[in-house]
Amino acid sequence: MMATVADTPMMRQYWSIKDQHPTELLFYRMGDFYELFFDDARKAAAALNIALTTRGKHLGEDIPMCGVPVHSAESYLLELIRSNHRVAVCEQMENPEDARRRGARSVVKREVVRVLTPGTLTEDTLLQARSNNFLAAWSEVRDDAAFAWVDLSTGEFRVSPCPRSMLGSMAARIAPREALLPDRLLDDRDLVARVREEGTHVTPLGPGSFDSTSAAERLQKLFRVATLEPFGSFSRAELSAMGALADYVDLTQRGATALLRPPIREAGVDSLQIDPATRRNLELSTTLSGSRIGSLLGTVDRTVTSAGARLLESRLASPATDLAEIGHRHDSVAWFIEERDRASAIGEILRGVPDLERAISRLALGRGGPRDLGAIRDGLNTARRASELFGDQEPPDEIAAAAQALSGHDALREHLRAALGTNLPLSVSDGGFVTAGYRPELDEARELRDEGRRGIDALQQQYRDQTDIAPLRIRQNNVLGYFVEVNERHARKLETVPHDAVFAHRQTISSAIRYSTQELSDLERRIVGARAQAQELEEEIFHLLRQEAVESADAISSAARAFAVIDVSLGFARLAAEENWTRPEMRGDLAFEVTEGRHPVVERALRDAGGEPFVPNNCILTVDGRDATPLWIVTGPNMAGKSTFLRQNALIAILAQTGAFVPARRARIGVVDRLFSRVGAADDLARGRSTFMVEMVETAAILHQAKERSLVILDEIGRGTATYDGLSIAWAVLEHLRAVNRSRALFATHYHELTRLADTLEGVRNATVQVREWEGDLVFLHEVVDGVADRSYGVQVARLAGLPEALIARAGALLEELESRRVDAPAEDTSTQLSLFDPPPPEYWSRPRQQGDSELRKHIRELDPDGMTPRDALQAIYEIRKLVQPPDGS
Ligand code: ATP
Repeated sequence: MMATVADTPMMRQYWSIKDQHPTELLFYRMGDFYELFFDDARKAAAALNIALTTRGKHLGEDIPMCGVPVHSAESYLLELIRSNHRVAVCEQMENPEDARRRGARSVVKREVVRVLTPGTLTEDTLLQARSNNFLAAWSEVRDDAAFAWVDLSTGEFRVSPCPRSMLGSMAARIAPREALLPDRLLDDRDLVARVREEGTHVTPLGPGSFDSTSAAERLQKLFRVATLEPFGSFSRAELSAMGALADYVDLTQRGATALLRPPIREAGVDSLQIDPATRRNLELSTTLSGSRIGSLLGTVDRTVTSAGARLLESRLASPATDLAEIGHRHDSVAWFIEERDRASAIGEILRGVPDLERAISRLALGRGGPRDLGAIRDGLNTARRASELFGDQEPPDEIAAAAQALSGHDALREHLRAALGTNLPLSVSDGGFVTAGYRPELDEARELRDEGRRGIDALQQQYRDQTDIAPLRIRQNNVLGYFVEVNERHARKLETVPHDAVFAHRQTISSAIRYSTQELSDLERRIVGARAQAQELEEEIFHLLRQEAVESADAISSAARAFAVIDVSLGFARLAAEENWTRPEMRGDLAFEVTEGRHPVVERALRDAGGEPFVPNNCILTVDGRDATPLWIVTGPNMAGKSTFLRQNALIAILAQTGAFVPARRARIGVVDRLFSRVGAADDLARGRSTFMVEMVETAAILHQAKERSLVILDEIGRGTATYDGLSIAWAVLEHLRAVNRSRALFATHYHELTRLADTLEGVRNATVQVREWEGDLVFLHEVVDGVADRSYGVQVARLAGLPEALIARAGALLEELESRRVDAPAEDTSTQLSLFDPPPPEYWSRPRQQGDSELRKHIRELDPDGMTPRDALQAIYEIRKLVQPPDGS
């Protein structure tokens, strides 16, 4: 009977490792393959779409197995991480020969060297170049809570106080790939849902990982410092969240030292707060359908480097509120616009900048290769060339600091230049990356190796001449090393024709016979020795260079950030110049005055479609003096452009505080500290909320939190319920906004009754988006003017949308009827929308009204009785009957 594989030493080793990684797929190294067994194999085979086979038996059952070749493992890992799996990579820690030496039944030592999770990746192939890959942790210690986040691939590490109520906003802003939560919170479905909103993978950790007392120690170890004091003082919740990150980094990186920058503590007041719904609805970094193209970010991104793109994304996700900081950013953009030639020269240089942050992070983790060193060499070279371009003229502060960070680094740059060749391999073991002349011993070893190779060629020729076998070849493989190979026919000749060499038989395969000789073995020994020596020397040189680079990591990171800052400012300058954007005047007061503002994304879309140009509009939410009107009620027909107008003003505030110029002729903006919006409507069925419920929850959040310094955008509040319910709610919300919140606000509505509030409520003004009726059709002018829309023209827009003529006619008639019964203000009548409508009169189907007649009339007018055959006439009767037939055919 066959022994169960579980009894074998290898399987025992497998289980002892697998037991420590129950939630990960275990990539178990077997020679040139990573193999997966049991359930892991089933899951991986399904996710990777590869063959599931079996290997041996366990408890009498076949063991499911699948495998991937080591050399192409990265693409499989990527696929698994994408489908939200975690992978433990278990390597062979010694040669099989060493294991054999310990005894016949010894198994090769194996260890998990790394755990791959979505939030702890560092390889370029596994990452998106233009986005950060954040790992976050949230922790609550008594009444205090904090959110910490780190990007292992760039070294960025931040922490911020974050009460439970702000968790959703924070998660939406950072959009981490993976978030660590205390496992006791997993039952809190609402909390977990808030974190998962952005597609974040949630990983629960035990209380030990979040322990705030031991956190300081873990962080000190991570940052290799004796005290955290120089980084600032942290609350217990902050320490706990950061400590969880440190613990998890240690756990997944298995002791490899991650190169993290000292944690930066964000106070939470230095950036414009944007709640998740607003972020989503305004489509800041992705559209509602999840694409970057068509979002604000996609539209304003003119960066050319990966680090620049990442900085832009994080600035746009968290615009500044500090006047001085915003001013510095605008100064940089203005300077690049002025200095056009310099800007284009620097822009050219930027295109060649490699991803320094990620290269140095990989090197520090011991995961980098010669190509990463090459990236640092090229980056520092480019830095020197770029820094020279700022030369004579004094740039503004932010750019001057960046230029400063780009200069220097001479010793490391020079060293890398001298040591590294071109066309660098990914991995050190591929060799051949150190230049000739850099280290004499290496040159010698290479010479010996090459000489040996030439010796092989000479020996092959010599054997051919001696044996008179022209196709005789000297070949090499991993098992036999070097050998002489001839086919069967020639083998006989080899044995019969006399010659000097002694060919010892090694192997017979189907198509050839293989031999070794003494000379060949001698040569081989020399080659292998020289090759090993060359490789060893190259490894040694690599480690020295790596060490030197890692020691300069701070300076390299500063240069990387300097490039990113320059890239972002220059991109904004290019954008402003190309799109005719202007520098906003930023103020400490509550002004919001946008003259001829445009919606950047809609404007671009209209231009790409080659249609009508975008119509600019003013938005003057004056706050000073007697005529102060910080709240506008915007009415206008459907499709006129109300939503566009509302959003464009929110986007202009965001762009201004991000540090960009804005799509307007002029803008004066008193810094906004919080932005709220209630636009669009969607069910949140996952959390069991109807459209109306979502709307009310979001409105409640706004009314509870908005203050004078906030900007509030409300689009069609109260639309999800019966007319009078909705109108009453909208009315009360408006009053509350003015009386309590006093924020600058735009309020778009179809409830024309609300416009009367402008007469009674201080600080409210009516604006309307104009349309004109032209020969029965609607012409959208998209112009926002003072005043009130005369009506909504919903029926006309419905016709434009292609609703059946008969239905339009019926709707028109109902409208007339309703308007004759219209009530002016929310009244006691709380009947539902539906009960306002009488059922359609019976003649509705059989006798279409005036407008509904038009198609029928047109058809009859076009008939030509004199030119018709009897058959045509009969057909015409059928068609006429079809036109007047009710849908149910009765
Ligand atoms: P609804 O009440 O149906 O939501 P709305 O008044 O909010 O309509 P929008 O969605 O803002 O209308 O705009 C409708 C379309 O009109 C936009 O997709 C855009 O193509 C066009 N549009 C809006 N504003 C402008 C403008 N200022 N200039 C040119 N076109 C515009």
